[in-house]
Amino acid sequence: MRILVTGGAGFIGSHLIDRLMEQGHEVLCLDNFFTGRKENVLHWWGSPNFELIRHDITEPIRLEADQIYHLACPASPIHYQYNPVKTIKTNVMGTLNMLGLAKRIKARFLLASTSEVYGDPTVHPQTETYWGNVNPIGIRSCYDEGKRVAETLSFDYHRQNGVDIRVARIFNTYGPRMLENDGRVVSNFIAQALRGIPLTVYGSGDQTRSFCYVSDLVEGLMRLMNGDFIGPVNLGNPEEYTILELAQSVQAQINPEAEISFKPLPQDDPQRRRPNIERAQHHLHWQPTVPLAEGLRMTIQDFQARVTPAGPATPN
Ligand code: NAD
Ligand code: UDP
Ligand code: UDP
Repeated sequence: MRILVTGGAGFIGSHLIDRLMEQGHEVLCLDNFFTGRKENVLHWWGSPNFELIRHDITEPIRLEADQIYHLACPASPIHYQYNPVKTIKTNVMGTLNMLGLAKRIKARFLLASTSEVYGDPTVHPQTETYWGNVNPIGIRSCYDEGKRVAETLSFDYHRQNGVDIRVARIFNTYGPRMLENDGRVVSNFIAQALRGIPLTVYGSGDQTRSFCYVSDLVEGLMRLMNGDFIGPVNLGNPEEYTILELAQSVQAQINPEAEISFKPLPQDDPQRRRPNIERAQHHLHWQPTVPLAEGLRMTIQDFQARVTPAGPATPN
């Protein structure tokens, strides 16, 4: 098959491309390199099955493909808040363009949505039937509300134009190739511990997240794309940790003496997050297999090659 991956030079997109290329598909990687890096897909350069296209999805484009994995969108709070209007344009105009493309070429379209559509959830763990608790005017809204509109657009193109859609709600995912300066908690803690500077815990550290290793997530995305269930479906690891527990896990693997420093909690930071994955288990026969300690070990190995004690400071 010929498969288009928008945001393919990013963290999740590049791991997805690895799997698709290994299966022998033709892959079009489309990216504007805002947070993606050519290095993430450089190992496929020169393969006749691989094509890299520099393009911003807020502009229309004409391509041919059988499937579209639509991942293009900055995902970490510091990146999506850097230019919030651009984040909304990417989610709304960008998704509209990709759905228009899918409609024209009759491609199956998978949207990488997010657990952020649940906002600061009042239902725990989060099921797909929960409509969420999102602040429409806060600093996270460009991303949360942007993805909610992207979901709405997907379902309206499905109902109105018969576009064959799949919607994944991805929960916090981590692994090799995360940017060491992207401000997300796993990359921050690992980079800080390797640099020998204190781990920055925001708030008291008793807020929770559930961390999914990237290979598990990619497997879930591919099962969703190639199955009959359109979603929305939660893809994430239901093992829930407080941020302080995560800091301790990183300390245990890198430096048990690493200091922790407490910083203010950002505005609208969700207090608890954990997926109910019964839908994914039932419809996709999928569940995560990589425990946190093992996933952290593989991520730390990747960071060790990039982060040195003398490296530039991590944003906090
Ligand atoms: P990432 O920032 O590494 O990847 C996003 C990619 O999209 C980058 O390569 C970036 O350059 C590209 N991009 C951004 N705006 C673009 C535009 N206007 N035109 C073309 N390309 C553009 O992030 P990621 O963690 O790999 O996330 C991939 C997708 O998964 C995103 O849609 C994100 O919202 C979703 N997601 C990720 C997580 C997570 O924990 N990583 C959780 C929930 C949802
Ligand atoms: N679009 C695109 N590539 C295509 C087909 C459509 O980028 O191959 C864009 C198109 O420019 C439009 C959007 O997708 O802005 C929605 O397309 P649709 O055909 O649904 O709407 P219309 O063009 O009729 O407004
Ligand atoms: N966080 C933290 N220290 C950091 C970065 C993040 O304590 O250096 C916290 C953040 O406040 C949030 C959680 O870790 O409660 C997850 O943050 P991240 O930005 O990774 O993802 P998201 O908030 O989008 O789930």
